[in-house]
Amino acid sequence: MAKNSNIEWTDATWNPWYGCNKVSPGCKHCYAERDMNRFDMNFSQVKRSKTKFDEPLKWDKPLEVFTCSWSDFFHGDADRWRTEAWDIIKNTPHFYRILTKRPENILDRLPKDWGDGYPNVMLVVSIENHDYVQRGYMLSRVPAQYRGISAEPLIGELDLLDLLANSQFNEVIVGGESGMKNSRPCHPLWINKIRLHCEIAQVPFFFKQWGAWLPINSDDFPMEFDPTPVSKIKRMLSLHPTGKTSDNAELTFPWIPMAKIGKQAAGRRFLGRIWDNKLNWRQ
Ligand code: SF4
Repeated sequence: MAKNSNIEWTDATWNPWYGCNKVSPGCKHCYAERDMNRFDMNFSQVKRSKTKFDEPLKWDKPLEVFTCSWSDFFHGDADRWRTEAWDIIKNTPHFYRILTKRPENILDRLPKDWGDGYPNVMLVVSIENHDYVQRGYMLSRVPAQYRGISAEPLIGELDLLDLLANSQFNEVIVGGESGMKNSRPCHPLWINKIRLHCEIAQVPFFFKQWGAWLPINSDDFPMEFDPTPVSKIKRMLSLHPTGKTSDNAELTFPWIPMAKIGKQAAGRRFLGRIWDNKLNWRQ
């Protein structure tokens, strides 16, 4: 089976169930909701998949699997199907990244033989800004072979230094928001802070995408970015590290001018390079 996902950090997605409920500002533009609406499916009802539940059993080579891209694996409404899903995970050669915004649900929903964690599972918490850093601390108390943080969409400052320095985390993935008319911009100082904290704690740092907005070089901003494709600019604004925005795109540091140019044009280069470090489970 070939890669079935365009997401930069995975080979495949697997949705044994789909549907969810929003829990925090990171969910505001949930792409699962958007995609399910396109298919005329009811997003607010969690349903077992009739066709995809045992999909990993059919894949003929080991893959990295983003588990529950259209739901939350630890959603309480999926309790009756999770044991069967754990069995599939345990008995297949794939590597599963299980993302959740509900780390408080994990401990009661691990399989009986979990022990210190399955060797082919990374538990990942999604954290969109510092208001939700507790998700990381909750995960740090769950036994697991591998743990990760997904800071996407990153919509505010996030300080990970204490968490990363005092717990075992194997990767941090960062990305801006895309895919929506009102996608929110991502300040380069937010990204750089996480990058530095990963460097200090020696945790792999992966920059997935800028999202819809790209920063524009400004004379007084102390970082340099790749040139902006001017012909693609649809809108401009200034973004402050507090998350405040202004339609005046000429405000000075720590404001940064941002141009809305779309995910593809904005790309995923940061400070002149690609940041592609993540756990290499195939080693
Ligand atoms: S937890 Fe994930 S799937 Fe559920 S609403 Fe939030 S972003 Fe969407």
